[in-house]
Amino acid sequence: MSDCKFNIVELYTCVSGEEPTSGLPTSIVRFSGCNLNCWPQFGGCDTPNRCSKGDDFTVDEMLEKIENLGMPHVLVTGGEPLLHGHALPLLRALSLRRTSCVSEVSVETNGSIDVTGVPGNVRVVMDVKCPSSCELDVTLLDNICLMGTRDVLKFVIGDLADFEYTQDVVGAYLSRIRVSGIGVVVSPLWGVCDPKDLIAWLNESHLLRSIARMQLQIHKVVYGGMMKLV
Ligand code: SF4
Repeated sequence: MSDCKFNIVELYTCVSGEEPTSGLPTSIVRFSGCNLNCWPQFGGCDTPNRCSKGDDFTVDEMLEKIENLGMPHVLVTGGEPLLHGHALPLLRALSLRRTSCVSEVSVETNGSIDVTGVPGNVRVVMDVKCPSSCELDVTLLDNICLMGTRDVLKFVIGDLADFEYTQDVVGAYLSRIRVSGIGVVVSPLWGVCDPKDLIAWLNESHLLRSIARMQLQIHKVVYGGMMKLV
C-alpha cells in the first residue's frame, strides 16, 4: 500500500481553525479533487484550488515531509480527501504513529462519503451541508452512527434557514450525539453570515445552546481566507 500515489495540491503549516484542535500548530495536507460544488451563488467555496492538479506522492514520501515540518497535528483535507478512498492509506500510516512529531490526526470530509475505514484514533470532522450550500441532500447522515467522542459535526451557516436546518438535524440525532459525545460546531459562512447574528441565534436556541459551540476559523480571521504555502 505504501507505494500507491495520491495527488496533493498543498502542504503547508498553519494553526488548526477547527474545534477541538483550534489553535494547535498544524501541517495541512490538501488532497486534489472534490465531488461537490458548494455555494455557487457566491462564486463557489473558499478552496478555489480544490480540483487543481498538484504533485503525486507515496505515503512514505508524504510521511517524510510531515516529519520534516514537525507539527504535532496533521489535518488531512481537500477537496474531498475520502473520495475514492485516496486518503485512507495516509491516515492509516499516521494513525500507526509512523512519525515522531505527530500526536493528533484529523480528517475533514464534506459528509458525502462513508467514513467506514477511517482509523478510530483519527478525528473525523464532518460537514453537514445546509440549504445555502446548494448541496443539501448529499450528506450521509448514517455516518453519525459511526462517529464517536473525538469526532465533530460541522454546520456552516449562511442564514437563518441554515441554522433552523441545523436544529432539525441535531434534534433528529440528539440521543446518538449525546451518547457518543460527538462535538457539534456552527460556523458562520465567511463574508455572508454576520457572526453576531449566529451568536444571537445560538443563544436563543434551547436545543443548540446546550450542545453546540460556535467557531470562527482562526486562519480566516488572520489571513482573510488566504493561506501561506511552505
Ligand atoms: S465540499 Fe468543501 S471543497 Fe468541495 S466544494 Fe464544498 S466546500 Fe468546497
